[in-house]
Amino acid sequence: MKNRDVSLTLEGLIAAQLRVAVCHPLQPVLAAKQRSVEAGIGGEERVAEVFRKHPFSADHHIFHDLSPAWREQFQMDSFVLTPWFGTVLEVKNIGGVLEFKDNPPQLIRTREDGHQDGYESPVVQLERNRELINDWLWSRNIDIPIFGAIVLAYPKQIVAIPPKDTKILFPRLIPSFLKSIPQHGNKLDHETFNWISAELLKSHQPFIPKPICESYGIPFGDFRTGGRCEACGGFGMIKLPRTWCCPQCGAVDHLVHQRTIREWFLIFKRQITNRECREFLGVDDIHTATRLLQSMNMDFDGTYKNRTYHLFKRD
Ligand SMILES: [Zn+2]
Repeated sequence: MKNRDVSLTLEGLIAAQLRVAVCHPLQPVLAAKQRSVEAGIGGEERVAEVFRKHPFSADHHIFHDLSPAWREQFQMDSFVLTPWFGTVLEVKNIGGVLEFKDNPPQLIRTREDGHQDGYESPVVQLERNRELINDWLWSRNIDIPIFGAIVLAYPKQIVAIPPKDTKILFPRLIPSFLKSIPQHGNKLDHETFNWISAELLKSHQPFIPKPICESYGIPFGDFRTGGRCEACGGFGMIKLPRTWCCPQCGAVDHLVHQRTIREWFLIFKRQITNRECREFLGVDDIHTATRLLQSMNMDFDGTYKNRTYHLFKRD
């Protein structure tokens, strides 16, 4: 029913690293965060792959990376809905030897060199998600049991102490786990099942990360401005009628402004003014900037003169 969304977090991290100096003190922090986001995506992809390859019946509706709108924000890595039950899968990719402690709930990871790290317990996250999706379904008069499991995406994850009451799975064990869940009790009729699945999709709110500047406390002035040339990687594409040209290598690209304005939202702020657009793109003419901004079909606030544009959903 739903694949995972494109990760704006990853896109922002990559764009930010290209725009700050190679020797910037926060480069290693951004790079480390990028690796961890990529590992997370890789783990969720491994789980999605199992669902793609395994022949599930039409009675299984599978949603990856689902955040239904609700009183509290929540996100499920994978959610499986059948007419009899729902199952939340929480995907983890923390490598090493893992100990799930119950009191207090905590996950402890021991690396090969003996170094230990503590994490919030995935059991707590899973239970919270189960409760919230249960309430969300209840609010629409759907009463089916909600199960859950923690999926360890990579085999290098060794469980020394499993959690007491929570199932731990590797991806290939997911199909047999789902088959082992008893199908009795209230069954949703065909129409209700399809309706609630559509409701879930409709209710999904894609995750919009905070701009990089805000998350990492990096001053605006530390970033290169201008459009980036895809051919040579240089900055400062020059506006020509109907296109852009790279002053370093001469490549032309008529869509540079779209990528560059998108990067503005990921790196600097949730909104942009005409002046900010001109400064960032290196365009002098106010009308050219207006045309470029309007070509992206963004929402906007304010009257003509002090209009601000938004690419992503508002706060
Ligand atoms: Zn170039």
